[in-house]
Amino acid sequence: MWGKLTMMVQGVIDSKLNRRNTKQRQLILEIMEQADEHFDAEQIYERVRQMSPSISLSTVYRNLQLFTKVGLLREHQFNSMRRRYEIATRSGHHHLMCIGCGRIFEFRCPSSEGLKTRITREEGFRVTDAEVRLVGYCPECQRRLSDKNANAELERR
Ligand SMILES: [Zn+2]
Ligand SMILES: [Zn+2]
Repeated sequence: MWGKLTMMVQGVIDSKLNRRNTKQRQLILEIMEQADEHFDAEQIYERVRQMSPSISLSTVYRNLQLFTKVGLLREHQFNSMRRRYEIATRSGHHHLMCIGCGRIFEFRCPSSEGLKTRITREEGFRVTDAEVRLVGYCPECQRRLSDKNANAELERR
């Protein structure tokens, strides 16, 4: 399914732009395919660079922005956190964003389905997409932070 999607989007992109960077773009698409669910430009850049050392981070950025524009990627950003991307077809889940380590976790939220139905019924607004985004600290960061506090406490003694 993904391969098909890549080809489809590739067609859209290629018809809009010149083909000069097609090879690098293809490489970025391939890396994206193997990346984590929520990746950032640096992660893609590090991997692409191993195969194509001449590529620049800004080229990777530009391509990710382009993929977002044509609807292949969905962009996630919260405050000053690094911009993350994920394949747009991976819908049906929501996000927990950790402000300690910047990681994004997914969770299911069946009640948001109920909300969509209710909004449609009560407001007459046809909801096509919904995302619940909760911000806070993941278990690891909570542990790390409480260790830090404990150490600071010890030093003060
Ligand atoms: Zn964390
Ligand atoms: Zn996600």
